[in-house]
Amino acid sequence: MPRLSSVLPVDDGDTRPLLPYGNGRSYGDTCLNDGGIVIDCRSLDRILAFDAGAGIVRAEAGVLLSAIIDLALPQGWFLPVTPGTRFVTLGGAIANDVHGKNHHRAGTLGAHVERFELLRSDGSRRICSPAENADWFRATVGGMGLTGIILWAELRLRKVESGYVDQSTVKVRSLAEYFEVATESDERFEYTVAWIDNLATGASLGRGLLMRAEHAPAEAGPLRPSRMPPLTVPFLPPFSLMNRLSIGAFNALNYGKQRKREAAARVSALKYFYPLDGITRWNRLYGRKGLVQHQSVIPFAAKEAVGELLKAAQKAKAASFVTVLKTFGDAPRVGLMSFPRAGVTLTLDFANRGEKTMQLLAELDRITVAAGGAVNPYKDARMSPATYEASFPWWRELLPFKDPRFSSSFWRRVTAG
Ligand SMILES: Cc1cc2nc3c(=O)[nH]c(=O)nc-3n(C[C@H](O)[C@H](O)[C@H](O)COP(=O)(O)OP(=O)(O)OC[C@H]3O[C@@H](n4cnc5c(N)ncnc54)[C@H](O)[C@@H]3O)c2cc1C
Repeated sequence: MPRLSSVLPVDDGDTRPLLPYGNGRSYGDTCLNDGGIVIDCRSLDRILAFDAGAGIVRAEAGVLLSAIIDLALPQGWFLPVTPGTRFVTLGGAIANDVHGKNHHRAGTLGAHVERFELLRSDGSRRICSPAENADWFRATVGGMGLTGIILWAELRLRKVESGYVDQSTVKVRSLAEYFEVATESDERFEYTVAWIDNLATGASLGRGLLMRAEHAPAEAGPLRPSRMPPLTVPFLPPFSLMNRLSIGAFNALNYGKQRKREAAARVSALKYFYPLDGITRWNRLYGRKGLVQHQSVIPFAAKEAVGELLKAAQKAKAASFVTVLKTFGDAPRVGLMSFPRAGVTLTLDFANRGEKTMQLLAELDRITVAAGGAVNPYKDARMSPATYEASFPWWRELLPFKDPRFSSSFWRRVTAG
């Protein structure tokens, strides 16, 4: 994987397509470029400035969000929006316009980006912000790396008083109850997310734990360094350890562990926002064939389709370990190609069982599209051009901004371009 400086501006002798690469934490092929060149942006790894009074950080695009947290959290600032792992680059997070557990309050990450510099394959550079080169800003936020390389960006952080969050976990007994509690929780809490027992059926379909949280007040204190080393999955098993039996046992324990309807706890911000970061190489649990993820968003008016999605997975006898339900608010879309839109978003992940799994994913696409929803590109490695068209009917608006030398495996597959 060549570094940026050795590739741009391009040498005209080489016509292979280029694509920036962050930390490869996208689940699908938006960060892959079969037959082309991916440019490793992780060498852009310097934090350039931090204004601890205003909470504005300027960093090169290859800086990991974890590095920004390490710098800013002890000084009372946190990411305004964060995905479920902190091991993603700033550039990769902007290029996918990532969302977090506070979409209903804060929108996507792009809403908190002050400006960035974009480098094109012809060597030209542009400063982009909501006011300057606003059309390029809009195309690049969520633009999946297709408009050029983000060199650095300035991000507005969120003030916090401590390194902890006050979490309230509500046990929801069904999907209907989830929707009720989610509505009330979104009104009262900055962060909301639900873990769902995807194997529960009948009246219990959609049961789970809805975790709401607020940043804890100053008395909670700064984050104490954890004395626990992260767990690691030491080897790659030949087959998936994530099957109906193991996931069923986990689900029963996880759902059953909380006796009361509602339980409160003060937990470290890192534990609340990044549960999977506590286990390095967790993806190995899925064996050699790996895992696939499916994230859909369903408009509120068609929210019953969430139940259909869960039932389709059950019918295919596919168990999902990380099953997450979350609501998206109606914040205006910052990026032209940003995924979030008002509705309920369901994320499922499955051990890859080959054709059977592909058929299930196609069925999940079908249900999503029929409900007027959309499938998330950066969690996908196989959606059809028709599903993409239905999810982003306006995708051609990106074309005037696409760098003629840039492409991805995803882009070629869904646009035949
Ligand atoms: C455990 C886990 C939890 C997650 N939870 C969430 C979540 O809650 N919400 C959410 O939205 N996402 C979530 N994600 C997905 C992840 O946040 C995104 O896919 C993120 O964009 C990955 O960033 P990356 O640095 O690894 O970039 P990559 O995956 O390497 O690349 C992502 C895209 O960014 C482009 N890109 C990378 N660097 C640059 C650059 N410098 N300039 C221009 N384009 C660039 C690439 O071409 C590609 O299109 C999760 C992923 C994991 C593994």
